[in-house]
Formats: sequence, C-alpha cells, structure tokens
Amino acid sequence: MISPERLTAQLAHLNKISAPDMGPGIHRLAFTDSDWQARGYLMQLMEDAGLTVQEDAFGNVIGHRTGADDSLPAVMLGSHADSVPSGGNYDGIVGILAAIETIRSLQQDCFKNEHPLEVVLFMCEESSRFGAATLGSRAMRGTLTPDELHRFTDKDGHSLYEILQSRSLRPEDIASAKYAKPLKAFFEVHIEQGRVLEHSRIPLGIVTGIAAPTRLRVHLHGSADHSGATPMALRHDGSCAAAEIILAVEHAATLHSDPPVVGTVGILRVHPCAMNVIPGETELGIDIRSISSAAKAETVRIVYASIRAICQKRSIPYDIEEISNETPVIMKPAVTDFLAGLCHTQGKNFIKLPSGAGHDAMHWADYAPTGMLFIPCRDGISHNPAESAERNDIVSVTEILEQAVRTATKQSFEF
Ligand SMILES: [Zn+2]
Repeated sequence: MISPERLTAQLAHLNKISAPDMGPGIHRLAFTDSDWQARGYLMQLMEDAGLTVQEDAFGNVIGHRTGADDSLPAVMLGSHADSVPSGGNYDGIVGILAAIETIRSLQQDCFKNEHPLEVVLFMCEESSRFGAATLGSRAMRGTLTPDELHRFTDKDGHSLYEILQSRSLRPEDIASAKYAKPLKAFFEVHIEQGRVLEHSRIPLGIVTGIAAPTRLRVHLHGSADHSGATPMALRHDGSCAAAEIILAVEHAATLHSDPPVVGTVGILRVHPCAMNVIPGETELGIDIRSISSAAKAETVRIVYASIRAICQKRSIPYDIEEISNETPVIMKPAVTDFLAGLCHTQGKNFIKLPSGAGHDAMHWADYAPTGMLFIPCRDGISHNPAESAERNDIVSVTEILEQAVRTATKQSFEF
C-alpha cells in the first residue's frame, strides 16, 4: 500500500534541506552541500526500501531491486532532487519519492517482480548552475562529453569537472556512467509546472510528448564608453542591441502556434553595469522550446538571422554559443494507452497532454518504452517558493506508478 503518511513525512524532511541564509524557498543547486545532503537522505530511503544502492561516475544514484530473473531488462523509475535558486519542494522530489514509495509498497507485500527494477536519482537536472539541463541523464545515455565537463562552468567559474572531483566523483571516467543494459520501460512522475491540469480540474496527466529546449548564449561585444562624453551616433551600446534581440526572440516564437513555440531571454548581463558607462560586453541567455523539431529549428534560424542583422546595423561584434539543442520527444501510444488503461481500471480521472518543460524522461524515450505522469501544481506555479501540490494527488499518481510497475515487470507483459 502506498503510504500517504510516509510521503508527507519525507516531503517535510526534504523541505528543510536547503542552503542556510539564502532566503525563502528551496536552494539545492546541483552538487552544492544542500543537494548533497538531500542525495544522502534519498540514498538512505532507497536502502530502507531494500534497494541495493550504487553511484556512477557522475554521481547518479541507482537503486536496484533484484528480479526473479535478474538477467531480464529492468524497469526503471526516476527523477531528480536538485532545484533552481528559490525553488519549490515538489519539482523532481515528487517523482523520486513516488518511485521509492512504490518500491516500499512492493517490499511490504513481498511482491516478486520478474524483471528487475531500478530507481534512479538523476543529478543536475536543472540548468541553473551550469547552464545546461538533465546532465545526469545525459551522462547515463553517454551523450555528456568530457569536453562539456570542462566547458560548463558555474557563476564562480568552477567547471563541472572540478565540481565532480570535489565530490570525489570520477569525471575522468565519465564514459563509464553510460547505461549499457537494455531496459524494459522507463517511468517518471512529475508536477506539471503549468496550469493545464488545474484549469481542466483533472488531477492526473499522461504526457504525450516533451518539448525540448535549444539554448543559446549570446555575447555582444559593445563598447563601454563614457555615458556623458559619447554622442548617440558614436555608440556601440550592448544593452540596446540586447533589447532589440529580446523582442526579436519574442516575435519569432509567436510565429508558430500549432504546435506552439515558446521563446525566453532569461539571462541579461551588462558590463560594467554602472550608471555612467555605456554597456559594453553584454550577455544574453536564450531558451526556445517546442514539441515540434521543425518549428523549433525554424524559430532558432530566425533568431540567428535577427541577431546578425541587429549587430550588423549597430556595428557590434558578437558570438553565439549553442549550449544545448535537445530533440523533442513523442511518447509511444502503446505506453500512453497502457497508462490510460491503468487509470481506467483504478477509476482515476486523467487527460493526455504535452509537457512544455524538459525532463529526464526525454533522454530515455528513444531507449525504452517511456511513460510520464503529471499531477497539478497550485496555480501552475513552479521554480518558485510558492510551488505546491496536493497530497491526495501525490498519493494517487504513486498508486498508478505502482500498478504500472506491477504490470510492466511481468515477463508475460509486452508493450
Ligand atoms: Zn523537474
């Protein structure tokens, strides 16, 4: 039986694990002390659930429950526990706790799974620290390169490579983190991080596809001149070019509505950032998403062309670094129909919907039948201290996850 009390107590415990003195909300940036503390707590929960716990070279935690035939492909469940700055205690957390609680429930029933089970705590899902998301999943899929470990740095200039070393992990051996065994299925539970479920008054969503981001870092090399002594016609103002680029991103994204594209400039840094100096070096962080690869690629192309035109007009040299370019994912109908069937059997109301946010699950959909379940979060708010989800919804989705596991671990069951 899924235990509402256990889930509530674990959520409350994790709610206290944050960086001290950082203000309201959850501060568990990847590989910081608070993230590491949450990881330790979750490893303990996995052990309590009878899982054999291991870590890979990147620090991903993999809890294994032996199958009646342990040579069969495993059914994998997982999510993350890191947060954005001033984040909430549900993003990622609901998924990893639902996975562990599912195993707890099987343990209490002495359930004999034929296929083995694996629960994975993926490290560094959020892009807040290193500017790129779902790095733990990428390490496990073998797509995180040694070069990227050196290239990705945090705001203090520490490379991901150095940070992994500081946690006694093995960045030099990143290739060994690749998950090479076949998988029977992958499932992830997550809060929706949008308003669709709440607006529909439906407590459960079956994800049909995941919009994946393309992320660009743009450096504008403007001239930092005296704000009083430089006439308007002689300026190369980085912030003015940035302002035009921000509006160009907004416009490019609105050109597609079905399927929609969203475009955001979430980072804007001007240097030297002084009242009496024209901004010179200026940095923008651009995030463009869609569940359509074609629509996203077209939008990115327009953004590149706009940046070129704006910078030429203003005689500002620039460079664009493509930080990530993930492929949107479409979930297999066999999996969404399987989850829908379980919801029907269990008498749970649900809708099917796409995910606007990226998730670890998107890295597994081309490797194994992959399913994702959403629950509503209050007012659609996420990446915010006000993030909240109903206990009943968390329990309910965990019950569906458990049913999915009980069925998918049967040798006689095939997608
Ligand atoms: Zn998340």
